[in-house]
Amino acid sequence: MLPYPLETSPGMNDKTTPRKVEKLLAVKGMNDILPPESARWEALEERVRKLMQRFAFENVRTPIVEPTALFVRGLGEVTDIVEKEMYSFEDRLNGEALTLRPENTAGVVRAAVEHSLLYNGPRRLYYFGPMFRHERPQRGRYRQFHQIGAEALGFAGGEVDAEIILMAHTLWQEIGLTDVELQLNSLGQPAERNAHRAALIAHFEAHQDALDEEAKRRLHLNPLRLLDSKNPAMQAVIEAAPRLLDFLGEASKAHLKTVTDILEANGVAYRINPRLVRGMDYYNLTVFEFVTTRLGSQGTICAGGRYDYLFEQVGGKPTPAVGWAIGMERVLELLKETGHADTGPVLDAYAVVPDASFLPQVTVCLQSLRAQGLSVQMHASTAEGMASMKSQFKKADASGARYALIFGADEMAQGQVTVKALRDAAVPQQTCVLSEVAQWGQRLQSNA
Ligand code: ATP
Ligand code: MG
Repeated sequence: MLPYPLETSPGMNDKTTPRKVEKLLAVKGMNDILPPESARWEALEERVRKLMQRFAFENVRTPIVEPTALFVRGLGEVTDIVEKEMYSFEDRLNGEALTLRPENTAGVVRAAVEHSLLYNGPRRLYYFGPMFRHERPQRGRYRQFHQIGAEALGFAGGEVDAEIILMAHTLWQEIGLTDVELQLNSLGQPAERNAHRAALIAHFEAHQDALDEEAKRRLHLNPLRLLDSKNPAMQAVIEAAPRLLDFLGEASKAHLKTVTDILEANGVAYRINPRLVRGMDYYNLTVFEFVTTRLGSQGTICAGGRYDYLFEQVGGKPTPAVGWAIGMERVLELLKETGHADTGPVLDAYAVVPDASFLPQVTVCLQSLRAQGLSVQMHASTAEGMASMKSQFKKADASGARYALIFGADEMAQGQVTVKALRDAAVPQQTCVLSEVAQWGQRLQSNA
């Protein structure tokens, strides 16, 4: 039996007295991305695709829904995401425990293991897509948000950590983002972390009074998480805590130096932040964030690090890996703030068609322009038929198109179209034989 009653649509069952139907709204914290805003999203995605190609990263697309166990095991039980932010549910039909992905590193690693993706050697992968976290919605923090992610799988050396940092840095340069600070830290290896963990617990135990309830609970479960606390009242005691950096052995220090040497050679400024620990348990060695002060406390636009033990965590062979994720909403917000927003493409031509009987011929003509790469919008009819020439001209002008193509009765009688420039009064109006419109389009493209 269906768990919800199937009703006939309200308002539809009695045509003579339509009932007012309650308006349905989007889920809180989950936004519609509408034009013209969506054009900025596309522009960013386009730039990222080209960037990824130049760094030899390949696209990967994994499901939005994954087994809940993947995140619990991969991210760690005592993390903000797993404890309080996941959209988890039971599949009614078969009882499976599922979760809307809160991030996609675990999913990509799951896919790599499942399909033996690294059989022939390491892989550089990237993705775009929505992520879901039940957080308090505010600027830069949503319940459905979007990430661009890069994951370099099977690489042990710090030069790949540096390479992906360089890749993000290149993106900021190309989209015109300045004043983003790169913060860098090393979380070392498990043995180093254990030694630090003991010192950390001792430190916080000695300052019990300064801890909030969450910190007290996590102290013995996952003390590193305390360093990630955003509670202002705890910042002093966090500041005074033992630094993981002081517990690093030679190999971990050498790894960090490989990274910083490459960053320095490429003129990428960074700041070592010994308090940077990141919110998931899967990280080791290099961790980093690109942070801006312009978005308040939602200032991290890109975050990542090395996760050499995650493959084992999800049932794969030990495999070193490093990656990052960019928050697209935050980057776009920042671009708007700094006036570097990419605008959407300009429409090349708007087709004015007073008589619906011309449409078969007109559409053939428009197709030939689109084949040249032009963007072309056709005036479409309403329930009343085709609008007047005057009203179509208004629409053409409002569309922002560079040209109006006028398929009037006189023109069509002679197998022609009038081409009128809408943005440049100096360009004379001209007529063009229908069969030669494609050549006109070609000239327009080559002059662009
Ligand atoms: P924060 O500390 O701001 O909560 P986080 O450490 O939880 O961030 P990550 O899991 O590292 O974030 O995700 C990588 C990036 O994704 C973040 O740097 C941010 O740009 C973006 N991001 C994370 N959560 C959200 C969200 N709820 N809404 C919008 N963007 C987000
Ligand atoms: Mg968070």
